Amino acid sequence: MDLTSKVLKGDVLSAARLIRCLEDEIEGATEELEKLYTHTGQAHVIGITGAPGVGKSTILACLIGNFRKMGKTVGVVAVDPSSPFSGGAILGDRVRMQAYSGDSNVFIRSLASRGWKGGLSRATMSTVHVMDAMGKDLIMVEAVGSGQADIDIARISDTVVLVLNPGAGDEVQMMKAGILEAADIFAINKSDMPGADLLKLSLDAMLALSAKEAQTSFWKPPVIMAEAIGKKGIDEIAEAILKHKEHLGESDELAKRRQERARLELAWAVEDFVKIHLEGMDQEYLAQLVDNLAQRKNNPRSVARNIIAMISSGGRDGFFAHRTAEDA
Ligand code: GDP
Repeated sequence: MDLTSKVLKGDVLSAARLIRCLEDEIEGATEELEKLYTHTGQAHVIGITGAPGVGKSTILACLIGNFRKMGKTVGVVAVDPSSPFSGGAILGDRVRMQAYSGDSNVFIRSLASRGWKGGLSRATMSTVHVMDAMGKDLIMVEAVGSGQADIDIARISDTVVLVLNPGAGDEVQMMKAGILEAADIFAINKSDMPGADLLKLSLDAMLALSAKEAQTSFWKPPVIMAEAIGKKGIDEIAEAILKHKEHLGESDELAKRRQERARLELAWAVEDFVKIHLEGMDQEYLAQLVDNLAQRKNNPRSVARNIIAMISSGGRDGFFAHRTAEDA
């Protein structure tokens, strides 16, 4: 498999193939991602989150149009299994999303819930990396804020847009989940429905309060009224996203967010590495260790410490089956 050079040239088929191979854990796919990594970090990643049905996909589809008009290339990762991008919605919505299917500067992938052993956040991050390496300027990730396909959107995005609806009582839920703090932009969608003004008032009040507490006057999250089916408020959301991007670049916030993300990826990589070695370990010996633990002859942390020590010393005395075979 040599997809790296083609993906770097923006080749859609190679990128799609690599994402599929990553999803199906085809041998060599992770290595391709390793090669791409140093070419990533250019794109601005926008997380669009909120409860199912609030209008994330509708907003996202409109935003694609705005960004394309500005000459930006766009990537979309849809994580929500019911998203129109994954073919899960009613026909009218699906048709709207397909408006961009002929535009080579828009690359849309939906992540199936199957596969992706490392979880959805990691799968999303991998897909974002592929789109980033393709040269997409802006990558939008659509994910449900809570529930089944939950992903840690704030940790993988540069800008988080939280979509809310009037009368849904979402804001209380969101506040509890701490998502309110993680959002950079609020969009009150379906503002044609009753209660939108009230929601804006209560959001503004909550935000003023939390800004006071956190003493952060650097970025004041805007609360934007939208009616995505009528394309209302979309220009404002697009503008706010670009303003936030600018703000991140001007402050040290972008570097901080990227460092946090790099730290997260390092932790994932270490975890992967240990897992692979555990799988490659002499399974009889592993069973013996587990048995000792079950009988309380040892404790998990001490055993883990020994395993890590053996990994770093390169394995010993048949500890790793594959290594013994190689060494023999
Ligand atoms: P998602 O699950 O958050 O992605 O939500 P969708 O974008 O699929 O929208 C859910 C439903 O709400 C769809 O039937 C949309 O047509 C509808 N919808 C989206 N925006 C608006 C709006 O501003 N007002 C009203 N009344 N309906 C909307």
